[in-house]
Amino acid sequence: MDPSPRDELLQLIRDLGGQLAWQRDAGLLELPSQGALPAAAPPPAVAPPPAAATVVAAPTPVAPPMASPVASPVAPPAPAVISVLPAPVLVAAAPPGAVAAIAEVAVTAGAVLDRVGALRVIQDEVRGCRACKLAPTRTQTVFARGNPDARLCFIGEGPGADEDRTGLPFVGLAGQLLDRIIAAMRLTEEQVYIANIVKCRPPNNRVPDHEEMSACTPFLLRQLEVVKPEVIVALGKTATGFLLDSKGSMGSMRGRWHSWKGVPVMPTWHPSYVLRVRDDPKSTARAEVWTDMKLVLERLGLPVPAPRG
Ligand code: SF4
Repeated sequence: MDPSPRDELLQLIRDLGGQLAWQRDAGLLELPSQGALPAAAPPPAVAPPPAAATVVAAPTPVAPPMASPVASPVAPPAPAVISVLPAPVLVAAAPPGAVAAIAEVAVTAGAVLDRVGALRVIQDEVRGCRACKLAPTRTQTVFARGNPDARLCFIGEGPGADEDRTGLPFVGLAGQLLDRIIAAMRLTEEQVYIANIVKCRPPNNRVPDHEEMSACTPFLLRQLEVVKPEVIVALGKTATGFLLDSKGSMGSMRGRWHSWKGVPVMPTWHPSYVLRVRDDPKSTARAEVWTDMKLVLERLGLPVPAPRG
């Protein structure tokens, strides 16, 4: 028997919820506006609906995710689900379970958009900041990359030359190693959020001093309060020392759990250090980073990949 228009409407609702949840899990930060929906995704064929259903028959299903979410502009403020499926129609046509599922998806999508907006406000402040002596020598500020909805944050020290040039953190050799570590964890950039203690490059890549860190870390604290990661990885001594308010050595801190405001923190070697000692046959830094990342995966309830070959 052919499905009724009501059944088709409910299926459309389920499909929409699934698409939005998939986009969220894929790290999509921007919900497509109706104007951006591709013509190649037509609505399912629907028999002539009764008058009450014509309100929702016209919208096109939400498009699949698009390019990198990080570079996307802020989406229009209204979540797509609101404009596609007016609440009165949902209430009239869908059973309570379907309404609750759609409402949950809408809340999640709205929360992601809120985080994008909140981070944009902080980023705009960082761009105009001249609060410490690193401002005159920077090319540009370096805010963050990754997904504001990420469960896992990596916090490093500060931008280097490549980051100062591109405006993105961890894009030089150390960043490429970090990307390989993330890939070895079977994660992608869309599943993590990466930021630094200071947003401007210290000259000659020196360690930021106390005054610079004091001036800049309020930005990082606000970022973390918006992203709300479940786990933080502190890369190197500067990030570890700040987050844990500790002067302990990395050797004594890494490999075990600490806490920042109740969020588990795993200190590990900074990728720059791993690169510096890579030719030292006695160095165990690389293996220790992987040991630490396995603990992170376990803490997140994610599978730990088997060692290769
Ligand atoms: S390092 Fe931070 S506090 Fe200093 S000028 Fe840059 S953004 Fe401002």
